[in-house]
Amino acid sequence: MSRVGRFFSHWTLGLVLAFVLCAGSVFAKTNVILVVVDGGGYGAYRVASQFRTGEDRGLPFMKGENGWREFGCTTYSLSGVVQHSQFEENAGPQKTSYSEDGSYDPATHWVDFRTHMKNATDSAASSTALNTGVKTKNGRVNFDKNDKPIETLAEYVVKRGFAAGAITNVGASHATPAGVAAHNMKRGEGMDIWREMVKKDVLSVVMGASHPWYDSNAERRDEMKIQKYGPSEHAWGKITTEELYYGWKFIEKREDFQKIASGEMAPPKKLMGLPQVSGTFQASRADENKRNETVPTMTECALAGLNVLNQNEKGFYVLIESGAVDGLAHGNKKSRRLFDEMNEFFDMVDAICEWVEKNSSWEETTLVLTADHETGALWGPDADKEATLFQTPIGKGKGVIPEMGYFTGGHTNAPVPFFVRGAGLPNLEKRVRCTDEKFGKMWGFDGRILDNTDFVPAAKELFDRQ
Ligand SMILES: [Zn+2]
Repeated sequence: MSRVGRFFSHWTLGLVLAFVLCAGSVFAKTNVILVVVDGGGYGAYRVASQFRTGEDRGLPFMKGENGWREFGCTTYSLSGVVQHSQFEENAGPQKTSYSEDGSYDPATHWVDFRTHMKNATDSAASSTALNTGVKTKNGRVNFDKNDKPIETLAEYVVKRGFAAGAITNVGASHATPAGVAAHNMKRGEGMDIWREMVKKDVLSVVMGASHPWYDSNAERRDEMKIQKYGPSEHAWGKITTEELYYGWKFIEKREDFQKIASGEMAPPKKLMGLPQVSGTFQASRADENKRNETVPTMTECALAGLNVLNQNEKGFYVLIESGAVDGLAHGNKKSRRLFDEMNEFFDMVDAICEWVEKNSSWEETTLVLTADHETGALWGPDADKEATLFQTPIGKGKGVIPEMGYFTGGHTNAPVPFFVRGAGLPNLEKRVRCTDEKFGKMWGFDGRILDNTDFVPAAKELFDRQ
């Protein structure tokens, strides 16, 4: 081979090598961020959009901007599945109840206004479904219908070298964050669940409101009051006296959340953040709609958590819960607190998007916004009447509380929104269960319906590409 020929063959080889290296680095990292609004169904997303933007679907993710995709997502648990024998006995709309394989018949479902309110899921069963891909009965955290523990997505990815975290603005170990890494037949065993979340080497970030020394208005108590969904008295003693309790760096002051969020303070390997508040981050004073200024915002918590998790070279999975909508909807509240809570959630979504653009990319990171279930049957004020059976809330302009009605004090099985941004989870489209045109038309999307058990297999496919 001539000298020139040899030069070119080396050059070609170099090009091929460079190409292979580049192609390999496309998937250098895989991050999946699952944001769950507890109790935030189409109704809550709708009224919050009306209040914030003056439009029914005014947020970028609702408009399909920036590559956002939208599905509806069914949430029912095995407690809501009507057995075959019951089908025979109950004619009519009862036949539209959900089936165990994750489907329902949209043609007959939206006939009776009450159908979606029957046998609704709770947060434990839905968090189990979102974190394991397995349907279970209400009350169970990652235990299946045969009383067997189920591996969670967090456990699956951590085994493969990724990091995982659980962040909430309500009790740190209540059902939704518990679903990330704990296993319990009873969701109410909050302190046991907390112990499992922090002692097993699965999570690198745990955050939530369960500080024993502060009340729900972030005021210091005279005496410590151990919270049900947080550390026991024994654990609290160790957390606050040991330099690193099971490797956890503990923070409680807002400024520390802010410093890790902004990068001013180097992120620790494992971060346990319990802001100085019990219950929820927002103040619970009856008529004052002020937030607790000494408590971090959801944005500050999320960014601090992302900075910790982003130290992992392969990537991470994190569940971030906006947890207070559920309680407000149980109480059928139309107050500013509901809108403040949703606004903090919307602000956080914007901040996460900016974080991804600065610290990662939409090729690497997938962001999902959804809910564990709908709460309150939040529809328009005249719903459940013959002429306006499935009326949706009526916007009254920016900053004005829309006309809305609640039709139950409990949860419902109405599909919830499921928004996805990022190149990840392209495999979601093939998992669509049905197209519910009627429901889609009510809320202004194309009616493609996923089930909450579809997220985990889709996410695993994504993590497995590395
Ligand atoms: Zn609830």
